[in-house]
Amino acid sequence: FQPWEDPAQEPLVRFGNVTKRFGSFTAIDNVSLDIYEREFFALLGPSGCGKTTMMRMLAGFETPSEGSIFLGDEDIGSVPPYKRPVNMMFQSYALFPHMTVEANIAFGLKQDKWPKNLINERVEEMLSLVQLTKFAKRKPHQLSGGQRQRVALARSLAKKPKLLLLDEPLGALDKKLRERTQFELMDIQEKLGMTFVIVTHDQEEAMTVASRIAVMDDGKIIQVATPEVIYEYPNCRYVADFIGDVNIIEGRLNSRTEQGIKLSWAEGQDDIFIANNIDRHADENACFAIRPEKVHVTREEPMDADNRVRGEIHDIAYVGNLSTYYVKLGNGKIFKAQESNRRRLANREFTWEDKVWLSWRNTAGVLLD
Ligand code: ATP
Repeated sequence: FQPWEDPAQEPLVRFGNVTKRFGSFTAIDNVSLDIYEREFFALLGPSGCGKTTMMRMLAGFETPSEGSIFLGDEDIGSVPPYKRPVNMMFQSYALFPHMTVEANIAFGLKQDKWPKNLINERVEEMLSLVQLTKFAKRKPHQLSGGQRQRVALARSLAKKPKLLLLDEPLGALDKKLRERTQFELMDIQEKLGMTFVIVTHDQEEAMTVASRIAVMDDGKIIQVATPEVIYEYPNCRYVADFIGDVNIIEGRLNSRTEQGIKLSWAEGQDDIFIANNIDRHADENACFAIRPEKVHVTREEPMDADNRVRGEIHDIAYVGNLSTYYVKLGNGKIFKAQESNRRRLANREFTWEDKVWLSWRNTAGVLLD
């Protein structure tokens, strides 16, 4: 069961109509958002959309200009950072270079005047959690990037915060290490049963680690949903474009037929059929989105497909496991189709200027608002 699917579950964090202005500039524009206990929640969006500002308000480094932020039952809007059960881990790690790994982890506990034996216990627990027990006596410069990142994580978790904020935590790691660390983070979050909120502009990262994602643009939250729903059912063109690759067709909805609702979209192009189970009227402008991997490329006309469009191979991007075909349609528009290269050398099947058919099922795409 997922916490946000249970209406009885109270949110841990509740942004209520929060606006944040810097002078006359509105960085966050009337945002309401619930984050539940035990969620791994991602704030995703392009640079400048307000992700970090959301985090900084949660941590207490910024106060909302309007609206409220609740943590459990408490309005934390004006609670100073050090009094919040919230910790923030930065991309730069911000470790103390002259202190050992264990001293770095113990730092906050000492400041809070934990008794010595409890500090030792907690530090050991944290070292074991991030698998750095053997490295306790080293200093940060004697560690790899990934290890330093784990020390920073251990330090942020030591005080048992209710909420851990991760601001682009993996930005400094290379791709392989980044992927491994994503799984470590998920593992630790699950083990501790804690709430993590991550800020990232990397959609793959958000899709991998998060149980739910808020897609932001220009100070607003555009869609909040699970990675699957965000990818399969984006609620607008912006989200469809931002997450993954997509083909967009703008047209006009026609009659309902047995094959689906007809969408006319270009002179000389066959109409497209869209699954009938949508609540839209004929004679409306519509925007249809379909992911490249839902579109098949064949040489022969696929008679049993719901949708068939004729085109010519314009370009092929071979990336090993997949090939993306850029297919030019009659009206000059380029359509992307992606095929897995499960069969060896499958991409050699087609070459430039080959005449092909693109086809897809009428349930494969979505209509956007
Ligand atoms: P990035 O991915 O580049 O970090 P972001 O989505 O985290 O971007 P924010 O740092 O939240 O974006 O900034 C949102 C907007 O608010 C930006 O246009 C930024 O310039 C502006 N902003 C942030 N902090 C301040 C500040 N202290 N004073 C004025 N403007 C600010």
